[in-house]
Amino acid sequence: MWLKYGVTPNGYLKCVDDVLKGKTNLTCLYCGGKLTAKKGRVKQHHFAHTDETCKPVVSRHKTKQFPGLPMYDRFGIQLPGRELEQLKVLWKEYGSQDILIPRDLISLRWKFRSLMQLAGNEFEFTDLGKIPMGALELARFNQIQEPLLLETWEKYRQAAERATLANYSNIQDYQADLRIYETQLRRILVNSLYFLEVKANGETLYKIGITQRTTDERISEIHQDLKTHYTNITINLLGFWEHRGNVELYFKHRYREFNYRLGKLTEYFKFPDVKLVLNDLYRMEQKVLSEAELELISD
Ligand SMILES: [Zn+2]
Repeated sequence: MWLKYGVTPNGYLKCVDDVLKGKTNLTCLYCGGKLTAKKGRVKQHHFAHTDETCKPVVSRHKTKQFPGLPMYDRFGIQLPGRELEQLKVLWKEYGSQDILIPRDLISLRWKFRSLMQLAGNEFEFTDLGKIPMGALELARFNQIQEPLLLETWEKYRQAAERATLANYSNIQDYQADLRIYETQLRRILVNSLYFLEVKANGETLYKIGITQRTTDERISEIHQDLKTHYTNITINLLGFWEHRGNVELYFKHRYREFNYRLGKLTEYFKFPDVKLVLNDLYRMEQKVLSEAELELISD
């Protein structure tokens, strides 16, 4: 992951997604240097230093240890490309058919990383192992991701605390890591997930999205967006889940083959049987915020 947050003149963090490309008035959280928003077509949008990149940011790019939410926007479980491809092939031939997998087809690394587990003398996919294919149901995805989100938070908190106690010379780097992580965590907690049915010129589409505002406000905006594509539009809210901003991108990954591109809009789908999708969504447990999470979002 790249540097995605900069500090505003008032001291708030701002995401690269919320600024125009080019030079900004934001500064680097690690060194205070000026930032330029890079928003091209190939690399993920990120901030680069307008002048020289500072050491903390260089080292985080090198080790890929920039604070990011686990399994939020990438679902390859950090497997090298070739192994990921092999895993997908096995899923197609065995997992998706509910057939156990012969031992000799299993890479040690998969076993080691808990993507596969023994079932008698053969192997099967674990919940974790199903995530790269998007084969894991949403409810179970939450059960896997939520503890990881909190563990990672704890890791950054402890690192910052240790650095402070031991009076490291780079305390502010650890504090910056923690702040970047907490900003991302806060964002998924304050957002609600919604699922809409859109009837437009006789077609039925579905839309997934997240919002911090009321659904009415969001729906009227969406109406506006769709006017460039359709004339006769009706939108119905099919579901709304509070504090479930974590699910949006996994949903898009899980249902990518049903994605329906509308110009630049990527959040629309056409489902042959929407009931299955609704069941998947409605099986999710209600998100109950812990005390620490409540405190985080009230900051
Ligand atoms: Zn910097």
